[in-house]
Amino acid sequence: MATCLVTGGAGFLGSHLCDELLQRKHRVICVDNLETGSLANIEHIRVPEFVHLNLDIIEPYFVDEPVDIVYHLASPASPIDYLRLPLHTLKVGSHGTHHTLGLAKKHRARFLIASTSEVYGDPKVHPQTEDYWGHVNPIGPRGVYDEAKRYAEALTMAYHRQQGVDTAIVRIFNTYGPRMRPHDGRAIPTFLRQALTDRPITVFGDGSQTRSFCYVDDLIRGIIALAESGEHYPVNVGNPNEFTLLELAETVLAVTGSRSEILHEALPTDDPQQRRPDITRARELLGWEPEVDLREGLRRTIEQSGADVLVGSAR
Ligand code: NAD
Repeated sequence: MATCLVTGGAGFLGSHLCDELLQRKHRVICVDNLETGSLANIEHIRVPEFVHLNLDIIEPYFVDEPVDIVYHLASPASPIDYLRLPLHTLKVGSHGTHHTLGLAKKHRARFLIASTSEVYGDPKVHPQTEDYWGHVNPIGPRGVYDEAKRYAEALTMAYHRQQGVDTAIVRIFNTYGPRMRPHDGRAIPTFLRQALTDRPITVFGDGSQTRSFCYVDDLIRGIIALAESGEHYPVNVGNPNEFTLLELAETVLAVTGSRSEILHEALPTDDPQQRRPDITRARELLGWEPEVDLREGLRRTIEQSGADVLVGSAR
């Protein structure tokens, strides 16, 4: 049994990670100030091996007991959040990552940071391999998120090289599943909410831009496999099956049996045209690959969330 500290543990991915770590008989310390997460995501966890500390990681913070693995997930993650919280997003990526790396160093813990495919920006290489350095607009509205994560990766490698911290970097590609917020602005919860209420499905631009969607259970398996490996360099974890946004909208219509029509809206600034992970490194280093296809993942999301939650009012 290991003691795992999960920053952002009350968020979408963090709460699934806490569930899985507890399932594997680890102890979990969840650090989360509920900035974009929710107690509703962790209220079902009622075991003594789990504790939630309501702390803001932008300020220095300490934990009194030994920690073996730090999973650093805290950060606003959906565009609706980081566009609303630009300075907070930069500070979480810088101060928050610095404090969390310092904690890992003090406890001699393995440290894993949740980075993102957004470090590749609007990529000029397809699919994206880890050795591609990206094409990011630093001064556009999305720059606060992309650059915070790029800085956090640089900081992580500096703690590894200069301070000897045992670090890992996972570059997460779009992930979906139960506990996504219906109004968080990302494509899958938005399309599901619209389809389940027979309202028009709003596709940005002509819908020819592509994304790859990973079901949350697959992603969590990949993250834990990476944390438990000895790898230090970035590893993409995501589903390499690529869909246009229009194909996604049509799949959501088919799975929900909805009568919604598809409407086109203006493209947001710096919206990437293509997004697809090359997962060769994850396959070779971790023996990992996704198992849940899009239709099955959407079915599970609807079944486990309940249609009323997916349609629900803003939370
Ligand atoms: P989320 O918003 O649901 O979770 C983030 C959590 O961090 C929230 O619970 C929030 O309250 C917490 N948090 C934010 N600022 C904090 C602070 N200062 N102190 C303490 N806690 C704080 O987002 P998510 O989708 O679960 O993403 C989790 C991580 O995975 C993020 O680092 C994100 O960048 C990364 N990621 C997610 C995706 C995805 O598809 N969901 C894709 C790429 C990367």
